[in-house]
Amino acid sequence: MSDTIAAIATAPAPGAIGILRLSGDGAIAAASAVFRPASGLPLAEQQDRRLIYGALLGPDGSVIDQALATISRAPHSYTGEDTAEVQCHGSPMVLSLGLESLFRQGARQALPGEFTKRAFLHGRLDLTQAEAVADLVDAETPAAVRQAAGQLSGVLGRRVRAVYDGLVDVLAHFHAVLDYPDEEIDPFRSETIGGALDRAREALEGLLATYDRGRYICGGVPCVLAGRPNAGKSSLLNALVGYERAIVTDVPGTTRDTVEERCRLGGVVLRLIDTAGLRETEDTVERLGVERSRCALAAAELALLVLDGSAPLTVEDEQAMEQAAAAPRVICLVNKSDLPLAVDLERLKRRFGRLCVVSAATGEGLDRLAGQVAELFPTGGDQGAGELLTNARQAAAARRALESVERAQTALAAGVTADAVLTDVEQGLSALGELTGASIREDVTARIFERFCVGK
Ligand code: GDP
Ligand code: ZN
Repeated sequence: MSDTIAAIATAPAPGAIGILRLSGDGAIAAASAVFRPASGLPLAEQQDRRLIYGALLGPDGSVIDQALATISRAPHSYTGEDTAEVQCHGSPMVLSLGLESLFRQGARQALPGEFTKRAFLHGRLDLTQAEAVADLVDAETPAAVRQAAGQLSGVLGRRVRAVYDGLVDVLAHFHAVLDYPDEEIDPFRSETIGGALDRAREALEGLLATYDRGRYICGGVPCVLAGRPNAGKSSLLNALVGYERAIVTDVPGTTRDTVEERCRLGGVVLRLIDTAGLRETEDTVERLGVERSRCALAAAELALLVLDGSAPLTVEDEQAMEQAAAAPRVICLVNKSDLPLAVDLERLKRRFGRLCVVSAATGEGLDRLAGQVAELFPTGGDQGAGELLTNARQAAAARRALESVERAQTALAAGVTADAVLTDVEQGLSALGELTGASIREDVTARIFERFCVGK
């Protein structure tokens, strides 16, 4: 039994089409009460998964739109429950009246993500697929779309499940031998478990190695704009983002807060953080900003070190250069290329490896910067799309699984008894189960029955 949820599924602005969505035991009855098919046959008696033309009724029973409706009976629906959808015109007023009608038929407002949560609870999606739904909606680059779409189709889930299945086999075999001594089952050998553990470890290491790429494709690259006051950080941020966001001033040290802006560059999203100048200061407000910018640098994947190319380097530039070096990757941006050059490019290139001459004022050189970013953060095109770990939750679970497998290997090598080794295997399984949302107890039991035919 599940209560009936309803929501406006489309964006809350006027558009060509708007969709009302329903799921739950009463979904089809509720939709049927507020939608009158032109054919005269009630919606609830129509065929599954067909578009039916008719009139949408408001809370007072009056016609508020000409629309299309579709019903999908459990379990052949997104949520696995009875569902209905009404596609009407994308008028926020029509949609809210339509929703009100559905509430009067006993539906309640769906919570954020509740349709997808129900899909997970009914086994229509695993957890990685459920996460991919949100990632796909939020995707800002073609690479992010490919990754989320692949993950949604189950690519990551299958990759995890292959490891999971290998370990479930081991556990199931062990329990079968132990719990059903009367059955004729091959005895349990430590070579079998050793081989399974080796394979699991290798697969998990490979999986964890995808996290770097997955993280920047899906979440963007944390990127700090470093440089002394007046080097042109805020101007550059504005040039990159394409609109005015940070306050640009002529007074040094006025960018006191860090601001984060997102821009697409070289196929990835840069999460740009403009910082207060990285210089020592007596001013407490500014000191807070400086402190924050140090934190930002420590957490960044990339520092864009901005230098004013039209003036000789100063002590403050030197400090900024030293601090930018704390980031794992640095691109030195020699800004203000529209003015005569006053710095030694060769020296800077030797020091930082990556250097780009740019002008925040004219936009010159930003395409070359995009090329450098693409080189540092390759998205890999179609290759591996969908099978990367993309968020901290997934990576933490995979890491715990790997640690458990390594512990099991150590225990096995030390000659510890099989059941002690299997405790580690079980922990590894539970970590992998968290990743996809699988439940080990059920899976081991099911495997015992299907693979070893115990009890027939
Ligand atoms: P920040 O303190 O590093 O954030 O520097 P700002 O972005 O506030 O810029 C400081 C000054 O340099 C401002 O007067 C900008 O107009 C100027 N500026 C920034 N970039 C350029 C550039 O590419 N060319 C020229 N000519 N001036 C620039
Ligand atoms: Zn600034």
